[in-house]
Amino acid sequence: MEDSNDSNHHSLQKLHCSVKNYDWGLPGKLSHVAKLSELNSGFQFDPMKPYAELWIGTHDSGPSFLVSKDGEESVTLKDWIFKNPDLLGDKVVQKWGSDLPFLFKVLSVGKALSIQAHPDKELARRLHKLHPDVYKDGNHKPEMALAMTDFEALCGFITLEELKAVIHSVPEVLGLVGDANADLVLQTSDQTDEEKVKPVLQAVFTHLMSASKETVTDAVNRLINRLQTESEVRPLTEKELLVIRLENQYPSDIGVIAAFFLNHVKLNPGEALFLGANEPHAYLSGECIECMATSDNVVRAGLTPKYIDVPTLCSMLTYKQGIPEILRGVSMNPYVNKYIPPFEEFEIDHCTLPKGERVVFPAVPGPSIFLVTAGEGTMNTVSPEVYELTEGDVLFAPAYTEISVASESELHLYRTGINSKFFEES
Ligand SMILES: [Zn+2]
Repeated sequence: MEDSNDSNHHSLQKLHCSVKNYDWGLPGKLSHVAKLSELNSGFQFDPMKPYAELWIGTHDSGPSFLVSKDGEESVTLKDWIFKNPDLLGDKVVQKWGSDLPFLFKVLSVGKALSIQAHPDKELARRLHKLHPDVYKDGNHKPEMALAMTDFEALCGFITLEELKAVIHSVPEVLGLVGDANADLVLQTSDQTDEEKVKPVLQAVFTHLMSASKETVTDAVNRLINRLQTESEVRPLTEKELLVIRLENQYPSDIGVIAAFFLNHVKLNPGEALFLGANEPHAYLSGECIECMATSDNVVRAGLTPKYIDVPTLCSMLTYKQGIPEILRGVSMNPYVNKYIPPFEEFEIDHCTLPKGERVVFPAVPGPSIFLVTAGEGTMNTVSPEVYELTEGDVLFAPAYTEISVASESELHLYRTGINSKFFEES
């Protein structure tokens, strides 16, 4: 083995990462993404421009670059890993090849993202083959959002009981789904098994989502006028208040009505939501750390000016009902909390290290990426080199590297790596 490769084995690599200015991002002056990317890459953010996502990883749509000691960007993380696959560890290379299987992001959500779902592996491959211009990516995209601030999302379908209540209390929904479909819902018993409820929900939701633009505009206008009138005589429900907010952001959009069908989930900082394939969701507000399989594969169906694909979305969904599971993490030691979703590609550690403390991240058989979101300190491996840490720093650590972190002020950092369960099972 060459010396240059050998010296990579326990040394860390600082990275410069890509930023995305999607229009749903928070304006620079309020956006953690803007601040972190300014500190990460040294450009100056625009206080008024939206900053939505910081991308850390090897995806071609938002590459990360290695940074030399004098701060110069050199090769992409993707090229470097491709040339030095042993950085990933043999188990990871056997399973996923010479590329990082996960993509790590920070999100600053100012207004709702589109209602979307991510196809499973088989559908992802099929969509990519059929419409490579729209579905540019052939990989699946399970994802997990870990709240940094209060965070809101729409996620998964409400229960049958709740759907019956919507049909009774929201005349605009009844108008869009039609009497026959509404009767189908009302006649389904809550005791009926899940497999019988799913086709009913699918029929109703598909009918709703397929309504013509004019019908939708008319229904949304009637809904908003009615809620404004009723707000003078009764307090609006949380869902109704949300719907008014969504209409402000996306007037005449079917997503405003579709929100009645989905769970409104609120996360406290430190709580996480994970989304398997084919689960409908839309992030609404707040800031989070997000991790996913390396992919950008999205099927959209509302709350967006982008291309929407209602038939694909409505046929792919699982139509599972009820509140999704919230992860609160597992304590690894006094400073580190680990979030383990049911996907092989990734997990997230959140570390809060008070001033003057030290913590060790044990060596694991796969790569890790660290992001410092607040505070100052140092990081080192078994090699004598010490890396200064400050907010916005991103470091890549090769497989089989023990990492020691010390804080000079209260330090907040996130680590993503391959899911520990993958190594236990393989
Ligand atoms: Zn998503």
